[in-house]
Amino acid sequence: MVQLIDRAIDKAGPVFIAVALLLIDMSALAYYLVVFPYSHDWSEASFFGKLSIIFIFIFTVYMVYCIHFHYYMAIKTHPGTMAEIYAKESDHLSGATISEHEVQVHEVLLDMEEYSDCPKTCHLPKPERAHHCSVCNQCIMRFDHHCPWIHNCVGHFNHRYFVLFMTYLVISAAYFVAFGWRPFVVSLDLLTSEWPYYFPRPLMAFSMILAICMGLAIGALCLWHYYLIFTAQTTVEFYNNYYDKKQCKRQGEVFINMYDFGFRENARRFFNVCEQFPWYTILYPIPIPPRGNGRVFEKCEEFYLLPKSRQREQIEMQREVQELEDDKDI
Ligand SMILES: [Zn+2]
Ligand SMILES: [Zn+2]
Repeated sequence: MVQLIDRAIDKAGPVFIAVALLLIDMSALAYYLVVFPYSHDWSEASFFGKLSIIFIFIFTVYMVYCIHFHYYMAIKTHPGTMAEIYAKESDHLSGATISEHEVQVHEVLLDMEEYSDCPKTCHLPKPERAHHCSVCNQCIMRFDHHCPWIHNCVGHFNHRYFVLFMTYLVISAAYFVAFGWRPFVVSLDLLTSEWPYYFPRPLMAFSMILAICMGLAIGALCLWHYYLIFTAQTTVEFYNNYYDKKQCKRQGEVFINMYDFGFRENARRFFNVCEQFPWYTILYPIPIPPRGNGRVFEKCEEFYLLPKSRQREQIEMQREVQELEDDKDI
């Protein structure tokens, strides 16, 4: 039964994307054909008024572009699997010299020390923070969840795009509601008011209801993801850490999330803010890769301050819940 649902989610992926695009673009059209002309009167505006109208127009085009860019990237960017790594390694190795070969094999072996094999169909070593996705039928690096709306998993390589897509979408929905509220009321007033716009009245009303509902629903999901970013967890890890915390408490020990570098640093790491990509690049609709290879992750100082045995214990405990989680839906 679970497998059937997974297969249905996988098959329906393109339909989900088409519906999402249709709704987003219908609302964008409602904005440009109704809300924008309603809120800004070009012929009556002063020089500065005209300048501000141009600025607002550019700003809204930028927001619409950012939504589409990050949505496209979240769909097209593979979150990362071990199968890809092996394919790349063998590609590299075919053209590499012996010493290069040795270095790469050494790197993979070093990484593998921490791996356990996936018991499911992929049968490949499973890196830390990876989980098996039953819809994609693969182990996904730094797995967060499978999202039917992007017909893809949210994982190491596309989590940033997914979060930015939601961010731009929620801000745009709030903007639409704030400025579209009055034309929305006009669209409902069928008896007395005129409708001089090239956009059907019922669709304007529908766009507003959609913006409110989706804005609230995606807004909540977006806030949840920011909470996870600031605390250096994925959705799966949140539940696992909760379980681990309880275990530690029972044993009278303090639980340390080994990937938690503090509020600010966690956000910097997630968005890959560094010398190459300064903070303002978050605002650019350009492809920016995440930090690290997705197989091994840096651990915080507090973790290394723990006695070696406790470090081992925490890693073991994490691997146990990692296995437990993935065994659930066999
Ligand atoms: Zn797997
Ligand atoms: Zn998936």
